[in-house]
Amino acid sequence: MQIPLLDLKAQYKTCKDEILRAITDVCESQAFALGPAVRAFEENIASYCGCKYAIGVSSGTDALLLSLMALGVGPGDEVITTPFTFFASAGCIARLGATPVFADVDANSYNIDPDDIERKITDKTKVIMPVHLFGQVAAMKAIGETARQHGLSIVEDAAQAIGASQDGTKAGGFGDFGCFSFYPTKNLNAFGDGGLIVTSNKALAEKSKILRNHGQDPTYFYKVIGGNFRLDSIQAAVLDVKLKYVDSWNDKRRQNAAIYDEIFADSPVRTPKIEPGNVSIYHQYTIVAPRRDELQKFLSENEIGSAIFYPKPLHLQDCFISLGYKPGDLPIAEKLCEQVLSLPIYPELTVSQVEHAAKAVLKFYESN
Ligand SMILES: *Cc1c(COP(=O)(O)O)cnc(C)c1O
Repeated sequence: MQIPLLDLKAQYKTCKDEILRAITDVCESQAFALGPAVRAFEENIASYCGCKYAIGVSSGTDALLLSLMALGVGPGDEVITTPFTFFASAGCIARLGATPVFADVDANSYNIDPDDIERKITDKTKVIMPVHLFGQVAAMKAIGETARQHGLSIVEDAAQAIGASQDGTKAGGFGDFGCFSFYPTKNLNAFGDGGLIVTSNKALAEKSKILRNHGQDPTYFYKVIGGNFRLDSIQAAVLDVKLKYVDSWNDKRRQNAAIYDEIFADSPVRTPKIEPGNVSIYHQYTIVAPRRDELQKFLSENEIGSAIFYPKPLHLQDCFISLGYKPGDLPIAEKLCEQVLSLPIYPELTVSQVEHAAKAVLKFYESN
């Protein structure tokens, strides 16, 4: 049985006609940039996220960059984030001339450790950027408390967490800004690149909208320097259709995760821990696996897809050498990079496919 890590064709089959109609409507309107399709999607997703404002942008990376720009982050500022994440989280900080400061993660949730955030705060710290990794919201109660005490802003990297929640609040609704990605592999996914900022702060929403379009306000007059961070209407139309399905897709992912959890109980594999009060959307189902590389090879020989998110923590990447970190500085993140493996979890998997993948993992440990 062949089981890929992700099968986007299977998802496309479930909503193809509706999406093609929505794309055709945009083509007929010829309103491709920030048109009615973008505004409609922004309204729907703002209410989905429980935030007052949503601003469609060109990618998740640009959502992060634009949020930091709107908060005035620049040279001399420090932004605290996790080293166990996709590159964009820290890349955006450095691109603005600010300094990414890495705090270690919690071994169970894989998310940034609030106690280590406290230790990393200096008088240069301006923003805390938690990442809701693999679809589980970070420890926002403690992080929010720390931010309030020290007068810091919060930018949530919620790229992997659309629809995830903590104590009833949706990802993106905790910070000054929440940032989403609609890259094709994400749980809510476009036909190309796309992203989103949510906020409930009117002044920040207005500033972000101006920055999204080169800083112009009114047209051809510029008080600030922005960029082209616009979301395409065609992408917005596709996303607006898929938004109706994302909760049912996330439910299916949770059901698949429950099957894995049950089969892996009492096995050498450590399953993902969901903290009390959290509802994960399982962007990835990521295990901590002894002899991880051998296991991955075994799975691949048995035609089961898997991936390592992420093989090297950001504080040890070549491009950040000048920050001065060395191996051992953030031991939990470093250890996870050697042991994590993400298994197929996408919604269209059948029960028997999930069981087959899980049993293949057990077979590796029984026979090796
Ligand atoms: C995908 C992702 C991003 C970047 O989003 P793009 O749309 O690919 O630019 C940022 N942070 C995290 C955690 C991501 O997973």
